[in-house]
Amino acid sequence: MNTIVAATRNKHKIKEIGAITGKFGMEIISRDDAGVPHVEIPETGKTFEENSYIKAYEIMKLCGQITVADDSGLVVDCLDGAPGVYSARFAGFDGLWPEEGEEGVDTDDGDNNAKLIRLVRDVPYEKRTARFVSVITMVYPDGRTIVARGTVEGHLVLEARGGGGFGYDPLFVPEGYDKTFGELGPEVKNSISHRARALEELHRKLENSVE
Ligand code: IMP
Repeated sequence: MNTIVAATRNKHKIKEIGAITGKFGMEIISRDDAGVPHVEIPETGKTFEENSYIKAYEIMKLCGQITVADDSGLVVDCLDGAPGVYSARFAGFDGLWPEEGEEGVDTDDGDNNAKLIRLVRDVPYEKRTARFVSVITMVYPDGRTIVARGTVEGHLVLEARGGGGFGYDPLFVPEGYDKTFGELGPEVKNSISHRARALEELHRKLENSVE
């Protein structure tokens, strides 16, 4: 079994990634368990790919082991793609995007959801389309990099529904369902989520990269 260090501290994500990587024979350990010293890694990228690479590369440099990082977020069509890479920091600034040079800090899920509802409130349901995006980057100590992207399409509802998941899950109804990710629970979510799809893509790429 391969051991891979997770660059994220988000327990929900490690759990979701771990549930899926286990199927593929990859054991995830947290950066703390790998003995990585505490450092803040500024997410200065403008794309999910850039941020995911920055996180994986910086942690790989500190632990010397294969490292995997995920950058993810919600892309809302009627908001020109916002909150996008700023999904975790959405309530920390006014308007759709932060000021140039303003990085922001993570804000409360409830505040982020409230801001999102406020911005899409007047848009009819059929136009309230959105997708979760996950980009997973695996960086090897020898410099090899594997990048995998997964998405899940859906619609936004205007009232939080369901206590499962995290982040924008209570507002997101994936295509083909009439319940939110918050209501559907981890089994369904892990079978169709952006992260699951990115991990499947990662798995395919890993199979093809066997030396
Ligand atoms: P990251 O930690 O920089 O990747 O930011 C991800 C942010 O996007 C989270 O804090 C959530 O707000 C949102 N997000 C990403 N994946 C999910 C998900 O599976 N469900 C709900 N929200 C998500």
